[in-house]
Amino acid sequence: MSRVFIHGGTVVSATGSQLLDVLIDGETIAAVIQPGSTVLGADLAANADVVIDATGKYVIPGGVDAHTHMQLPFGGTEASDTFEIGTRAAAWGGTTTIVDFAVQKLGERVQDSLAAWHGKAAGQCAIDYGFHQIVGDVNAESLKGMAELVSEGVSSFKLFMAYPGVFYSDDGQILRAMQTAGDLGAVLMMHAENGIAIDVLIEQTLQRGDTAPYFHGTSRPWQLEEEATHRAIMLAQVTGAPLYVVHVSAKQALEQIAQARGNGQNVFGETCPQYLYLSLEEQLGAPGFEGAKWVCSTPLRARAEGHQDELWRYIRTGDVTSVATDHCPFCMKDQKELGIGDFSKIPNGIGGVEHRMDLMFQGVKDGRISLEKWVEVCCTTPARMFGMYPRKGVISPGADGDVVIYDPNGHTSIGVGKTHRMNMDHSAYEGFDIDGHVDTVLSRGRVIIDGGQYLGSTGHGRFVKRGLSQNLI
Ligand SMILES: [Zn+2]
Repeated sequence: MSRVFIHGGTVVSATGSQLLDVLIDGETIAAVIQPGSTVLGADLAANADVVIDATGKYVIPGGVDAHTHMQLPFGGTEASDTFEIGTRAAAWGGTTTIVDFAVQKLGERVQDSLAAWHGKAAGQCAIDYGFHQIVGDVNAESLKGMAELVSEGVSSFKLFMAYPGVFYSDDGQILRAMQTAGDLGAVLMMHAENGIAIDVLIEQTLQRGDTAPYFHGTSRPWQLEEEATHRAIMLAQVTGAPLYVVHVSAKQALEQIAQARGNGQNVFGETCPQYLYLSLEEQLGAPGFEGAKWVCSTPLRARAEGHQDELWRYIRTGDVTSVATDHCPFCMKDQKELGIGDFSKIPNGIGGVEHRMDLMFQGVKDGRISLEKWVEVCCTTPARMFGMYPRKGVISPGADGDVVIYDPNGHTSIGVGKTHRMNMDHSAYEGFDIDGHVDTVLSRGRVIIDGGQYLGSTGHGRFVKRGLSQNLI
């Protein structure tokens, strides 16, 4: 077992920042100590196998991305990152844990779909991983299956108010699933868009001859996100179950969440970097078919309406509790291109698992959020929300040795000349310059990224059996 000593850096937690040294023994953090301390009765640097000088840098918990879709089947194709490639890309970007989604389709058993996802990920991942379970067919059997899954470390379930005929749940099914999740102490995650109404708008939009990617956005207006979010909140209130609304992009939807939280309800909002940085006009509205790169649901919103700035504000107020990526990459060639002449056939998704920590750090540099908020929404709260804390999401004795050394004076150019490691033929953030850099990444005590080199290995990542949520109001 090797000992890693990280000295000279500023350890950042969700509650503060301090010059501290960190000792990792084997896979876990053994001590977090004042610089120069003789607490362990020895010269730690001299006795360590690996010594990392973090002077002038931030030492933060490894990123926890609680929303990814590696090799997800969607729209006749499959997300282009395998668990192997996608988790390696995540590691490069300072993320050391992902929570991906196992998908139950109509007519399947939840247990079988979870087993299928275990099969895809086992022995493939560079970093640790957990699963949420998508319940695409709420019925008596799948409701029973939820209890079984909780005991196997899958303690969160996602439903869809969108995609009728695919993953869609009606209000009665949602109510039942919420009751079950509430009884189990599990988190109910919701894709909140009114899919029935959206499908009508899509049909009418296409009939008008508006087939370009831009119209993906206009056929999913914010009103239908706000309405679904409100409905989900009311259903959750009736059942008393906690509700976690995924990938919120409309400021009005967040207003609903903020109000519910103000009333003391256990409702949590998640957003993603694409909704903070990108927009309907600039990206989805790019010339020709270019906008297809940014087709995802919920859609990017109009900058003219001010959603992006409001989302940043809601991070500051705590109503956005987590920032995840909804990483779901598709190449333009042969994948996004399926929707040339019909935006509704463009596979929905943006790849970003590699860039989340950097993009959110840019928010610190830009004065939008504090350093501590960066760690809170990217590392600590996702770990607490999904039952992985204090093993993940914090630098403290007993936690896993998942640590990132981040250089606030470094520089990261995203996407240019395909410098990213995701299996995509483009980048959603092409040309973005970040005023910071992931220098070193450790996963359970092992250095997996160091000075621009990947030192990890396929299969190092283990399944994280999660407990119940620890982040309720
Ligand atoms: Zn998703």
